[in-house]
Amino acid sequence: MSRNTPQAIRGTQDIFGAEAEAFAFVVETFERVRKLYRFRRAEMPVFEKTEVFARSIGETTDIVSKEMYSFEDRGGDSLTLRPEFTAGIARAFLTNGWQQHAPLKLATHGPLFRYERPQKGRYRQFHQIDAEIIGAGEPQADVELLAMADQLLRELGITGVTLHLNTLGDGDSREAWRAALVEHFRAVKDELSEDSQERLEKNPLRILDSKDRRDQRFVADAPKIDQFLSDDARAFFDAVTSGLDAAGVKWTRAESLVRGLDYYRHTAFEFVPDEGSDAAAKLGSQSTVLGGGRYDGLMESLGGPVTPAVGWAAGIERLAMLVGEKGEEPVEAMLVVEDETYLASATRLVREIRGEGYTAELFATGSPRKRFDKAVKQNPQALLVVKPDGYWGATDEGALNPAIGKLLRSFGPSSPRT
Ligand code: ATP
Ligand code: MG
Repeated sequence: MSRNTPQAIRGTQDIFGAEAEAFAFVVETFERVRKLYRFRRAEMPVFEKTEVFARSIGETTDIVSKEMYSFEDRGGDSLTLRPEFTAGIARAFLTNGWQQHAPLKLATHGPLFRYERPQKGRYRQFHQIDAEIIGAGEPQADVELLAMADQLLRELGITGVTLHLNTLGDGDSREAWRAALVEHFRAVKDELSEDSQERLEKNPLRILDSKDRRDQRFVADAPKIDQFLSDDARAFFDAVTSGLDAAGVKWTRAESLVRGLDYYRHTAFEFVPDEGSDAAAKLGSQSTVLGGGRYDGLMESLGGPVTPAVGWAAGIERLAMLVGEKGEEPVEAMLVVEDETYLASATRLVREIRGEGYTAELFATGSPRKRFDKAVKQNPQALLVVKPDGYWGATDEGALNPAIGKLLRSFGPSSPRT
């Protein structure tokens, strides 16, 4: 690498090999599971007008106040690389008239961008899988969404991660709780972090979400939402928890759990590694793998009709860290051409093997001896040296995948090596 080769942008990753396989495994498993629950695929643009995020996520959040990649395009519009999926999905729901599909179960995945301090499990470009149920106000939607998340984690083989659950109540409960929190934190205002002093009047719930030690001391004895829940809000939460029990989803109550974004109502949740677990050791302090909740107020903030909805997102990189390294799958058939004159017939044979759905590779460059050695190293199920009138199989014929064996016999007789 010469000294004037440009470096990658800080906080971005080039993912390759076993880590890339783990990443792909997460996405493939998500695709399979979302189909089991009949979530429909959607693709949204990677950038939106800045106001899409500013209006829905909330000006006082970390994301909007300091993490967005915003820029003016050549036409003078303020655009932002998406820092999360939900706001763009809500915009798409409204501008495309997707109301006609409500209740709509949607799934998507892709890159997100946040200007954060890069560290283990935290990047400036990262990737999420995302699931939303839009136009569904009943607690059963929350249960369905969480059952899907729970099954996904199981199918990924991830253990030692538990669903932490809270309710933020409805509008009225949230308001009353908010007032009590302001009073609680105002009494210790000078001892809070600068960020939280600022949040105090604007958005005190966010102080509960703070990662700053100076704030966390006062979070433990802060007023809890339960004292302020209206009867409706309590009934809603009870329906969610009994639904989760019926669905066999284990959960634990987390009274200080709020989500960082303004638009949440009722259910808020995170899947967090259990203390002392393998998962906690792998993820370090960046521990939430999946988070979400109900955002009944969002569509209105974008000028749409009241539309209840619930959703979650999970970081693919963090899930991939829990999955561990995935080896690349061994190849089923490896074909070695020792003499260029046989290349055409070998090309036909490898095409047929792949056409039948088997993995195959052709080795036809380098010294003939090296080709053979390289092919052996891949530890293929079948290793074949192709000749004009047939092949010589280095693998025991009996051990061959029967379908590959049949293809080979149609290609020509096997012959002992000469
Ligand atoms: P955190 O508390 O870790 O900052 P968050 O509340 O900002 O997370 P969300 O906005 O809810 O996270 O995003 C959902 C998930 O996306 C997180 O649980 C995490 O797995 C992942 N995630 C969020 N930010 C990043 C990042 N900068 N790098 C990698 N993954 C991330
Ligand atoms: Mg964050």
